Amino acid sequence: MVSANRIIIAGGGLAGLIAAIRLNRAGYACTLIEKKRYPFHRVCGEYISNETTAFLKREGLYPEEFNPPQITELHLSSVSGKSSTTPLDLGGFGVSRYAFDNYLINIAQKEGVQVLLDTEIEQISFDKVFQIKTTVQSFESDFVIGAFGKRSRLDVQLSRKFIKERSPYVGVKYHVRTAHPANRIGLHNFRGGYCGVSNVEDGKTNICYLTHRDPLKKLGSIEALEKHIVFENPLLRELFRNAEFLFDKPEVINEISFETKEPVWNHIFMAGDAAGMITPLCGNGMAMAIHSAKIVTDLLIEHQGRSRDELETAYTRAWRRAFSTRLWFGRQIQHKLFGTEWGSNLGVTLAVHSKFIANSLIKVTHGKPF
Ligand SMILES: Cc1cc2nc3c(=O)[nH]c(=O)nc-3n(C[C@H](O)[C@H](O)[C@H](O)COP(=O)(O)OP(=O)(O)OC[C@H]3O[C@@H](n4cnc5c(N)ncnc54)[C@H](O)[C@@H]3O)c2cc1C
Repeated sequence: MVSANRIIIAGGGLAGLIAAIRLNRAGYACTLIEKKRYPFHRVCGEYISNETTAFLKREGLYPEEFNPPQITELHLSSVSGKSSTTPLDLGGFGVSRYAFDNYLINIAQKEGVQVLLDTEIEQISFDKVFQIKTTVQSFESDFVIGAFGKRSRLDVQLSRKFIKERSPYVGVKYHVRTAHPANRIGLHNFRGGYCGVSNVEDGKTNICYLTHRDPLKKLGSIEALEKHIVFENPLLRELFRNAEFLFDKPEVINEISFETKEPVWNHIFMAGDAAGMITPLCGNGMAMAIHSAKIVTDLLIEHQGRSRDELETAYTRAWRRAFSTRLWFGRQIQHKLFGTEWGSNLGVTLAVHSKFIANSLIKVTHGKPF
């Protein structure tokens, strides 16, 4: 039997923040360690599926004060700009990570979570208890929740299998002001990628696209990529032309991997992208991060008497039940449909012309409210 007195949360994205707040409320001494300082921007489409809304409201964590736009329809377009609109059964809301993560860290700190910012975890090792070495100090803990996102130096230190493979995807994000309908998420296809467009707080619009690194390498800059490839879709060309850009330069990340990961590794309970990342096309990575934080914290709170082995088995099973199927569909759509130019054209053209296909794709890649 393990007494979960001390819990370290490694990483303060949505998974880490929600886990820290819930465990602290349940009386655990938990420390959240984040390498950056809030508020900060992240490459993310910032559309949050309504799968999360009931949970966030129950926990008093729904970001009501930002009056998030409610998103109820999907506007899909193909490379040539052919488009159709389809209602979203469940829909979602829009809030920037800059605002939402900062809102949650303020709640965590106000409620007494020990928070270490500007502190990178360099090493996590386990021998009956965990030893955590950071850039500032070292800690011992009974449990670690790994919420360090899609790719971290910790994955290298922990010798995780997926980190050995290079990944070809690049993500680019802007905030702009433009006349984008508040209830709409746009998903616009271009050669080798797709671009999400939806509103966040204060009437701002998020433009976020995922592409392959090869055309970017060939053309030499984001600007050239947009001019020669992204703007082939006339809807995207118009969108960029009429927008007022609010960042000096785009937020960019690379090496985005959708490969299979393990929900428990070296006794660490992985949550959010650290356990498995769904393609952004599905628009529910944040919902999965929040949901996985709920699953792992419910388990730690409700099953205190169980052995470490039992807890790890129960978490792996619960995580797979909740997410494996949609991750698999997400990977098929990303690699098979969007992995080739003709595949993505065909996929989007079919979805543009058939509401049934569009709805089926949405259904298999989304979960239910929790
Ligand atoms: C292009 C793109 C568009 C997307 N669009 C959407 C969308 O519209 N809707 C949606 O739901 N999802 C979207 N996603 C996915 C979504 O962004 C992620 O699923 C979500 O951010 C995962 O949250 P997380 O808490 O697991 O990780 P993150 O939010 O990445 O947080 C991880 C944290 O860990 C910290 N960290 C890392 N290593 C260390 C360390 N060694 N020590 C201390 N701290 C560390 C990082 O600084 C970071 O703050 C998109 C993703 C991409 C790439």
